[in-house]
Amino acid sequence: MRTAIISDIHSNLGALEAVLEDIDRRGVDRIVCLGDIIGYGPNPVQCVDLVQQRCEWALLGNHDFGVIYEPTNFNTVAEDAAFWTRRELERQKAEDPAGFIRRWDFLNRLKTRWQEGEFLCVHGSPRKPINEYLFPADTQSDPHKITKVFDYIERACLCGHTHWPGVFTDDGEFYKPDELKDHTYTVRPDEKAIINPGSVGQPRDGDPRASYAIMETGDGAAPTTVTFHRVPYDVQHTVDLIHAIPELHPMLGDRLLDGK
Ligand code: ZN
Repeated sequence: MRTAIISDIHSNLGALEAVLEDIDRRGVDRIVCLGDIIGYGPNPVQCVDLVQQRCEWALLGNHDFGVIYEPTNFNTVAEDAAFWTRRELERQKAEDPAGFIRRWDFLNRLKTRWQEGEFLCVHGSPRKPINEYLFPADTQSDPHKITKVFDYIERACLCGHTHWPGVFTDDGEFYKPDELKDHTYTVRPDEKAIINPGSVGQPRDGDPRASYAIMETGDGAAPTTVTFHRVPYDVQHTVDLIHAIPELHPMLGDRLLDGK
């Protein structure tokens, strides 16, 4: 089965549409989403609709939580964006009442964790599914944290949240997609792995192109592989949309140009 894994869309419709086109061109059996559908970007309504239409399931990210419930531990830029996003969704109450209810209901039902075969799926980390970051740099600066986190999974994990694509292994390594042959990681039967597909709508690894992954789970003896993909899109258009919304800090647009 071929599963496209998308995460951290952050209301960036241009990036999401480009990724969905790329997924459709390659052909998959289904699409799943690891959370942060909304927050930061200019098109929350359309992004929620597309994820609801196209994904088999989706998880709750900290920014989805921040919009639906309350922004916790956000800086003022992220907090302002969360409040604007909520107002934007609530504005639909008058314009499109049925759509408003459908969207709000969908957001309220997002899961915090989901077991998918041998993969535990979360937004943040296996021990703190909504808010904990697993950064590539943690393998050097805080290896104990990575070891502890691996205690929470039996086999493998899919997570988003950091916007850094790649693979953690239980021997303390982190592999960037560029370090992998054909950008593909094969999960060995004798190891544990944590895999992050990167961010569709706000990459932070220095590459502004949208990031996602396709997981191939074989039947029987075939090992699971994950292939990382990057998709160019009209970044400047999203930047312009953000800059036109006074409640969204201009920096939220500017940083998309550098993928930071
Ligand atoms: Zn995010």
